[in-house]
Amino acid sequence: MAENDSTRMRPLIDIGINLAHDSYDGDRDAVIARALAAGVVQMIVTGSSAASSRAAISLSRQHPGQLFATAGVHPHHATELTAAVLAELRQLALEPQVVAVGECGLDYYRNYSPHAAQQQAFHRQLELAGESGKPVFLHQRDAHEDFIAILREHGATIAGGVAHCFTGGAAELESYLELGLAIGITGWICDERRGSHLLQLVRRIPAERLLLETDGPYLLPRDLIPKPASRRNEPVYLPHIAAVVAQARGEPPETLARSSTEAARRLFRLPRTDAR
Ligand SMILES: [Zn+2]
Repeated sequence: MAENDSTRMRPLIDIGINLAHDSYDGDRDAVIARALAAGVVQMIVTGSSAASSRAAISLSRQHPGQLFATAGVHPHHATELTAAVLAELRQLALEPQVVAVGECGLDYYRNYSPHAAQQQAFHRQLELAGESGKPVFLHQRDAHEDFIAILREHGATIAGGVAHCFTGGAAELESYLELGLAIGITGWICDERRGSHLLQLVRRIPAERLLLETDGPYLLPRDLIPKPASRRNEPVYLPHIAAVVAQARGEPPETLARSSTEAARRLFRLPRTDAR
């Protein structure tokens, strides 16, 4: 990305960064500082278990106005959602730093938890989202039909949500948009082997529902030049992802920066920062 583009590509918000992940333990503050310097002014730290949700909240307390958290249990960990953990999540969801319930949903690709347990955990967390009045941060892989059916049951009680790390096809996208969800686009779109269909599909996402995320430390964009020494992804690469999305949509970079930042602030009710 040209220097010129990176200054036109701010501010940005990374709506999905697993910053509590241990791959950041050695240099987390430097990762945050690099992101801020690149114009990524706010980041939502993904909670995917009780422990990582607590860690996300604690990070958010250390960086008020810049970091925010989600609180939830990923479908991989669905069997961990006991009554006690659910009660804890209910408390965590009330914390002011928590801007969404999740990540939650269904993952039949890896099947680390049985389908029935995943479905139960998803129902419970959608109920929690309804109670808390906060939006949901959704994960779905190879489970589209069950996922949509469960979401429809709870749809009316939920204050919006995002289908995070969208990698699906046109029909999947249409059903999410019909349900009123926002769509999270990651560096998957930069992957010429498996993500090039997204270059077409991002044009169909209304600007007020298109959100950007790195999903770091996962999904390092494959087309970075020069190739970073580490395979670890981090929010400093969000402007690169944004540039690819803007080009695919035929939009000036600043237009996408403005609309995606506005969309993130509206959905997650984030405050404005001095960096605007
Ligand atoms: Zn996910």
